[in-house]
Parts: sequence; structure tokens; C-alpha cells
Amino acid sequence: MRRVYLDNNATTKTDERVLEAMLPYFCEVYGNAHSMHSFGQEAGRALDSARETVSNILKIEKSELIFTGTGVESNNLAIRGIARAYKRRGNHIITSAIEHPGAKNTCQDLEREGFEVSYIPVDKNGVVIVEELKKAIRKETILVTLMHANNETGVVQPIEEISKITRENKIVFHTDAVQTVGKIPVYPKELGVDLMSFSAHKFNGPKGTAGLFVKNGIRLGKVITGGGQERKIRPGTTNLAGVVGMAKALELATANMEEKMKEEEELRSFFETEMVARIPEIKINGKEATRLPGTSSISFRHLEGESILLGLDYKGIAVSSGSACSSDDLQASHVLLAMGIEVVDAHGTIRFSLGKFNTREDIEYVIEEAPKVIEKLRTISPLWNEFQLKK
Ligand SMILES: *Cc1c(COP(=O)(O)O)cnc(C)c1O
Repeated sequence: MRRVYLDNNATTKTDERVLEAMLPYFCEVYGNAHSMHSFGQEAGRALDSARETVSNILKIEKSELIFTGTGVESNNLAIRGIARAYKRRGNHIITSAIEHPGAKNTCQDLEREGFEVSYIPVDKNGVVIVEELKKAIRKETILVTLMHANNETGVVQPIEEISKITRENKIVFHTDAVQTVGKIPVYPKELGVDLMSFSAHKFNGPKGTAGLFVKNGIRLGKVITGGGQERKIRPGTTNLAGVVGMAKALELATANMEEKMKEEEELRSFFETEMVARIPEIKINGKEATRLPGTSSISFRHLEGESILLGLDYKGIAVSSGSACSSDDLQASHVLLAMGIEVVDAHGTIRFSLGKFNTREDIEYVIEEAPKVIEKLRTISPLWNEFQLKK
């Protein structure tokens, strides 16, 4: 049976060229980059070279790049770090209603520590309402943290527009760009942000290696205490093979990027057009907004997402219902509900996320199989049968 992986927003396959670039950094170059001997110097040069590659691609200074373990960790270091460093100036944080748990739960945790957090609503396409954000600003506001693109819908947020507002009001601005770096052109200085999180495994790099851009001059309070690595912001021995892999993955992801984006978008457009033509009562979420080229969030009305996921999995097709992090608990996605999607439709929503290894044959297989899976599930769905009776 064919196996089709359409869950690239959860994680991606490591590119073999990335793995190849990493391999010497286990058994050949294995010194600690902070040791003074020749083994350490070798490792130090590789670390420096990886930092140079990544910062050149992102158009930032080497001193502005902190290597971390995960995107969630980058979000924690940024949000908690700013909260600690600036708490004498104020205790108010602004975020959105659609953040990844890595930012959302960190904000909620800070609320328990006495910070006040405003959760800005989104419109029906999943775009943050800038006017609401403006209204939420107080003189105590120290941080705005807002994702660049949403992981469930792929909807891209108006970061540049918002950074003008945060600059005018002298508020630190962090963006979770884990879904955009490596997929669309992302330059933190052009976006106008002060901090930016990204993660290698979302762009065909290794899992467990990520980064945080911290603009020169931005102070961060300590979240992890230890030695002097990564400007003391992220102490602990750096994952050298990991950062070498991340640098290689970012190089590969950003080469001919426009072309690859266009191809992916064409493939998605073919997929969505065919799905709409072949399956009744479905809706594509965030379609009128700017989206990542490979993400498609579809609500299949009168069905349960989990049963669709399992039905597709049985056919070798891997997708996600809600976000990977929330699919353990069967609550409807907070992202979809924030967009005004009804609870029943949110429950029947599936995220198809394409990646660079998907082919047209993959999509042709999915548009053949998915309608059959949906039809079969609907014949046994009480919700669907009730809907048919009412018609
Ligand atoms: C995947 C993801 C994260 C978490 O990154 P990890 O490296 O898996 O910890 C954070 N934010 C967004 C938007 C994501 O999609």
C-alpha cells in the first residue's frame, strides 16, 4: 500500500543531505566547543560556521543567534526571559487566542505568577485583529508575543504591521516563527521583531535543535542557569551535530525557495479543488487569508476528526486532527473555535500539511481515497444521518 505523509506541520523527514552533514560530528569531531584543546577548537569552528550560516540566511548578526533545543524551549526562553527582565517596568503581556501551546501555556503560567495577559481575538479567517491589539496596550505592557503563521491553519499573521505599533509603544515583540522559517522567506529585522523562535525539524532538519533570535540590546532574564554557553541564555553543551544539521537544512530550504513555494502551492490548490469537487459539505479554513503554501485545514461537517484520521491512516495517509500537541485530549481546537467555527465543525477538522517530499502522485492517491473514507464514515455517522433527514 502507498504511504503518504501529509503531517509536515507536526514534523518532517530529515533530508539525507542533512544527516550526511551531521555524521562527522558524532565520532570524528566530538570535542566540547568550549574546551581549549585542539578537539575543542575543531568543534568550536564547526559551531561558529553553523552560526554564521544560519545568521547570514536570516540576515542577523551572529551575536543575535542563540541555539536551543526545541521551538517550545525558544518560546519559553523568550517569553519568560522578557517577563523576568522587564517586570519592574510592567506586568502586562499581549498574545493571541491562537498560539501554539509552547507560547500559550507559558503565558498562562506567567498569569499564575502575577502577570496579566490579554488574548487578542482573530477574525473568521484566523487573522489577529490589529485594532483589538492596539486597544489592549497599556502603559504596563512589556511584551507582545504572536506567532508568525499558525500551525493548524497555516494562516500568516500581520507581524510587520504589528511591529510598527510595538516600536511606537516601546514594547518588546516576540514571534513564534516555527512554522514559517524554512517555508517562506523570513527575516526578523524586516519583520521588525525583537525575538524570534524557529525549529529545525519543521524544515527537514533534525529534531531537538532550534534557535532563538535575540536582537542586540534586548535584555533577557535567566530561565536556565548554568555555564556561559549561548550568551548564558541557554547554558548547557550545545548539540553540535544538531546545529550543523540545522544550518544545512536551512541552506537547502532557502535555496530556490520561491520556486518551491510555487510548486507546493500549486499542489495544494489542486488538492483543495479536487476535495471540494468530490466531497459534499466541506469547508476550507482560512482560505481568504494569506496562508503557508502547504497547509490545508478542512472541516468535514457532521463527522469526528479522529475517525477521519484513523480511516485515512488505514489507507496509509497520515494527517492530523487539531494540532499534534492537543490531539491527546479530545477538546475541540482552541484555534478553530477562536475563528468562530462551530464546535461540531471544529471536531470534524483535519489538517493536511504538505512538505518537499510530497509528489503529485501522493495527492492523486489522497483525492481518490479520501472521498471513499468520508462517504463510508458518513453512512454510519448519526450526525450525518440527522442532517440528511433535516434536508
Ligand atoms: C512545532 C511548533 C512549535 C514547537 O517546536 P518544537 O521544536 O517541536 O518544540 C512551536 N510553535 C509552533 C507554531 C509549532 O508549529
